Amino acid sequence: MTLDHLRRNFLQKLVASAAAVPLLSPYRTFAQADRASTGSHPGTTLRVALMGLGSYAARVAEAMQSCKRAKVTGLISGTPSKLQEWGTKYGVPEKSRYNYDNFDRIKDDADIDAVYIITPNAQHRDQAIRVAKAGKHVICEKPMAVNAKEGQEMLDACAEAGVKLLVGYRLHFEPKTLEVIRMRNAGDFGNILFFQGLSGFRIGDPSQWRLDKALAGGGSLMDIGIYAINGARYMVGEDPVWVTAQQTKTDPVKFKEGVDETIQFQLGFPSGAVASCLSTYQMNHLDRFFMTGERGFAELRPATGYGPIQGRTHKGELTQPHAMHQTIQMDEMAGILLDGNTPVVPVDGEEGLKDLKIIDAIYAASETGGRRQLRLSK
Ligand code: NAD
Repeated sequence: MTLDHLRRNFLQKLVASAAAVPLLSPYRTFAQADRASTGSHPGTTLRVALMGLGSYAARVAEAMQSCKRAKVTGLISGTPSKLQEWGTKYGVPEKSRYNYDNFDRIKDDADIDAVYIITPNAQHRDQAIRVAKAGKHVICEKPMAVNAKEGQEMLDACAEAGVKLLVGYRLHFEPKTLEVIRMRNAGDFGNILFFQGLSGFRIGDPSQWRLDKALAGGGSLMDIGIYAINGARYMVGEDPVWVTAQQTKTDPVKFKEGVDETIQFQLGFPSGAVASCLSTYQMNHLDRFFMTGERGFAELRPATGYGPIQGRTHKGELTQPHAMHQTIQMDEMAGILLDGNTPVVPVDGEEGLKDLKIIDAIYAASETGGRRQLRLSK
């Protein structure tokens, strides 16, 4: 056996044993527990204020109606009519409805444990820091911020305030995704050699915030390519050590300076596995993860949509039942924030920061065409 083989075996076993720890722990995670038999007990329910009442927040609010351990108890919006409408719909009293000017007052709101930030990307940093200063846990949508520097500032603010920071990585709780991870850890695929992530859609309205660098922080990579970045990490089970990237733009009017249309990127992992990914705002029907190892493969397609996620491996179809991603996510996040549970795949601020470091490196690499080394852990 060569030195390289020994090193790869060691790394695979290390990743497998680390990921196996939660399975050996004395408690079951909430998703593993009998969901049907669990009620909403006082003091064990995560009380959440939603910030930014747009399209994704609407999906989260609806999904949370089926949660066993999480409840919408606060609302933050710049639009008074939305506060009124959502407040009535979800039973949030006027005293727990805030706007962007006065939401620091949640500090004194005993009915709010955490704020879920679902606003345009470039606003996440400042809003998260204000929530942390108000002494509430932060749940922040992806991308956690628009670059690693801002992400680090969010981590620092939450640490200083003694609150937790989580990122809305809903796929980290998705049953078929977790099954692939379980199989990988069990060695079913052998040493992982290759991952492919295709993430994209054809974006419409050119005036939306997603195409405005000042609000989005970038283009497709920030919004949809981040799924391939994050997916490469949780599917391979390692953090990449280098990146290369190439950018193409066919419509410079719609995709202005600093707003990427299409980026291809490649990641290299410590074991020697490589990933080849595509992020785009110009092509439809791109939502596929494929991973192959020495002994087998896994394919998820769709891999990241709202579901049902579908997939198969060399052993056959994945048959885990579909549940609303945001319902499972918020129940699991209640377990993390209230009970200190450890998810199989992390959803904390460090996890969000790693993706931001990769995004920074992809943008930098796409400028020069050269390879960028990555150091994701401190
Ligand atoms: P959206 O445009 O539908 O909603 C954004 C909300 O922010 C709106 O209520 C809007 O009024 C408010 N807002 C405050 N200031 C604004 C400003 N200056 N410009 C525009 N809107 C402003 O967007 P969305 O799709 O709900 O996305 C919000 C966040 O959620 C983004 O970070 C996005 O990446 C994330 N997201 C995550 C998922 C997921 O599956 N995890 C899916 C969609 C969106």
